[in-house]
Amino acid sequence: MSNPASLHSPTTFDGDDHFHDECGVFGIYRHPDAAAHTALGLHALQHRGQEAAGVVSFDGEQFHSHRALGHVGDNFNSAQIIRTLPGEMAIGHVRYATTGGTVLRNVQPLFADFKFGGLAIAHNGNLTNAYGLRTALVERGCIFQSTSDTETFIHLIAVSRGTNVVERVTDALRQVEGAYSLVAITREKLIGVRDPRGVRPLVLGKIGDSWILSSETCALDIIGAEYVRDVEPGELVVIDKTGLHSFKPFVPTDSKFCIFEYIYFARPDSNVEGRNVYQIRKNIGAELARECGIEADVVVPVPDSGVPAAIGYAEQSGIPFELGIIRNHYVGRTFIEPTQQIRNLGVKLKHNANGQYLKDKRVILIDDSIVRGTTSVKIVDMVRQAGAKEVHMCVSSPPITHSCFYGIDTPDQEELMASQHELEAMRKIIGVDSLTFVSFDGLYRAVRDEDRNTENPQFCDACFSGNYPIRLVDKDSGEAPKQLSLLTTQE
Ligand code: AMP
Repeated sequence: MSNPASLHSPTTFDGDDHFHDECGVFGIYRHPDAAAHTALGLHALQHRGQEAAGVVSFDGEQFHSHRALGHVGDNFNSAQIIRTLPGEMAIGHVRYATTGGTVLRNVQPLFADFKFGGLAIAHNGNLTNAYGLRTALVERGCIFQSTSDTETFIHLIAVSRGTNVVERVTDALRQVEGAYSLVAITREKLIGVRDPRGVRPLVLGKIGDSWILSSETCALDIIGAEYVRDVEPGELVVIDKTGLHSFKPFVPTDSKFCIFEYIYFARPDSNVEGRNVYQIRKNIGAELARECGIEADVVVPVPDSGVPAAIGYAEQSGIPFELGIIRNHYVGRTFIEPTQQIRNLGVKLKHNANGQYLKDKRVILIDDSIVRGTTSVKIVDMVRQAGAKEVHMCVSSPPITHSCFYGIDTPDQEELMASQHELEAMRKIIGVDSLTFVSFDGLYRAVRDEDRNTENPQFCDACFSGNYPIRLVDKDSGEAPKQLSLLTTQE
């Protein structure tokens, strides 16, 4: 590591961070411009995490790291910075913390020096038994440097009795529960792994002879790499000078890819598990149109997340699509703002009515989801003030009634509008003439799960159904605090 001191400097602690986060990961093996490609890949994955970014490279002798709070483009924007990350192997991470501040000590990739050499690791997902594991590890004398659940892997790898790095990583993975797509580098290897359920995405790509691992295919496109295949749920891939090796170290189980990746989280130009995200969003819009059948003059998306579904809705219904709301792109996602007050302000900063397309019109507004309801209330008010005659809200997901514990940042259940209110009450609060959510069957048809098995759906839809496919060990134990008490240093 080139300057480990700055990575763990206590002066960067603010102690006000949360246990889990949303993220994107990228890794590249044997490329002369490994760090520059990683920075570009992370730029394409920026939507998965906007609060911090980091790259660790290995040059054959030493690991090098640059990690910073903020966007990729603001932190990996000069040849000078890229030059501090030499070597032909690199991994990177973008992070999107939940409530509270992001602190540098939690910015990934995390790095540690082991008996067998260094290892850097970047994680997308959320472990559901991290608190219990961490408590046990601390009792054994492990000293944690961050509040990130990812650090649990580091300690489990360190205390493993495995005889080589792959055995140690496997040993660690067998102890954790939850959702994870990981990339890691050692001195010789690039490693990628998806949890047995495959909740978060991870794809394999190639550029020339170089292997790539990425959360989404859009990061392959940006560097001109070809898509090879998705890493399979429960698969561990190890890439070294002898090529790519695939291991299946877990007991096989049903896969449960996160359906919300299709609805909101992944980039529309990505293909995830063989399905194009944009196409699926359009399909959901078409399903909504079939289910709603509302008469109206215009279909207006809440930009940007509602756009593909609104196109699908308009195509299916024959009602003209209009950009009746314009988004200012220089404001981040409203969710990212740390307080309700700022979130409210954020919505105003972000959207403006395109008046003449709304005035005296019967408007169908399309958004991908209602979480707290903040966005919908503001947007509907804006559309009404612009003179709309009727406002109908159609949502391209079922009501979100449960929090996610697998790596999507949703607030506590009490803050979820649909967990607190019935449909009619929501309609009144949002102030619309009608409110429709796509049905479960419509959603499943749209993602082409034609034979939807209602008993055992092939996706994780816990945020809509409350059916959590992976045990919530920490939550159910009732012991895990929201913020890790081990590290509540306030500075
Ligand atoms: P809310 O205002 O709380 O109802 O949030 C709804 C808006 O947030 C929708 O426009 C979604 O596109 C967006 N959204 C949904 N889920 C998330 C998430 N996990 N992170 C950030 N934004 C989200």
